[in-house]
Amino acid sequence: MKDKKEFDVIIIGGSYSGLSAAMTLGRSLRNVLIIDAEKPCNRNTPHSQNFMTQDGEKPHVIAEKARAQVLKYDTVKLVKGFVTEAKTTNLGFSVNTESGTAYEAKKLIIATGIKDILPNIKGFKDTWSKSVIHCPYCHGYEFRHKKTAILSNGDKAYHMTQLVHNLTKALSVITQGDANFSEVQIKKLQAHEISIIEKDITEIVHDNGTVKQVIYNDGSTEHFDAIYVQLPFEQHTNIPQNLGCEMTETGYIQVDEMQQTTVSGIYACGDNATRFRSVANAVCSGNVAGSALNMALSHDDFN
Ligand SMILES: Cc1cc2nc3c(=O)[nH]c(=O)nc-3n(C[C@H](O)[C@H](O)[C@H](O)COP(=O)(O)OP(=O)(O)OC[C@H]3O[C@@H](n4cnc5c(N)ncnc54)[C@H](O)[C@@H]3O)c2cc1C
Repeated sequence: MKDKKEFDVIIIGGSYSGLSAAMTLGRSLRNVLIIDAEKPCNRNTPHSQNFMTQDGEKPHVIAEKARAQVLKYDTVKLVKGFVTEAKTTNLGFSVNTESGTAYEAKKLIIATGIKDILPNIKGFKDTWSKSVIHCPYCHGYEFRHKKTAILSNGDKAYHMTQLVHNLTKALSVITQGDANFSEVQIKKLQAHEISIIEKDITEIVHDNGTVKQVIYNDGSTEHFDAIYVQLPFEQHTNIPQNLGCEMTETGYIQVDEMQQTTVSGIYACGDNATRFRSVANAVCSGNVAGSALNMALSHDDFN
């Protein structure tokens, strides 16, 4: 171990949620260390929407502005690095980074986001986050009234279809295998003239990330402007589980309304602890985690 330093709080992950927590804590005169691997999930999307004052801004511009504002507080330090492990200590917690540096703090915030698992479809990676999108609130307005597909099946697809139908009537569901819709769902989809395509996409043909058409497994093709998909995900790190934090059935870190995990002194915020995925929500939950943690530190100091 090359180095060892002590802080009030270590925040693992320095994107929107981690920076938001850091601002609250830094302004509360807490010594904060942010360790960030600099790989936010939206880094390839050209524009970030639906976050007031920054609507339509490039994601990295929002992050850079946030970072500059947070680092104005001399109580906050940020280092680039990937945290590989964390342990409990007499002080609270210690963490190690990939480069072999160790740091210690009284409390821990995990703001590591989630990692989307992309399917192995030719053209998917190049179109993901540009015209293959995950969220109608983030990108639906930009693709309003466009010819749109929902790549999903069953209840998940039905739920998404209701949302997207509000934004465009030129809508199809591509089920990638069995549709798995109930009879009632099929009747409703038919009544709204939403086609159910029980085929697999083998390739997304695109122009610099803009979907042009899909090629199905039977060789036929169809034009679309946008495709919605809800991807499976995994956590970036097992640190919460290794420290004893409980996870939800759907794979998120379990937190209470103050972003406290099931382990005392550990908080989680942002995408890793909620299915409601947005910059606004990441900032909000970071703000809550920072405030709750500051209260916990104040309580400890006072007693
Ligand atoms: C393609 C795409 C487009 C989106 N578009 C929009 C949009 O238009 N509007 C909107 O409101 N929302 C949008 N979102 C959602 C939004 O980007 C997320 O909700 C938000 O980024 C979550 O912030 P976060 O801080 O929780 O995680 P992230 O922003 O994903 O950041 C997590 C950070 O933690 C770091 N990290 C992870 N593990 C470690 C570790 N072990 N050690 C150190 N650092 C670590 C990562 O490198 C990263 O920097 C989009 C998401 C995606 C995937």
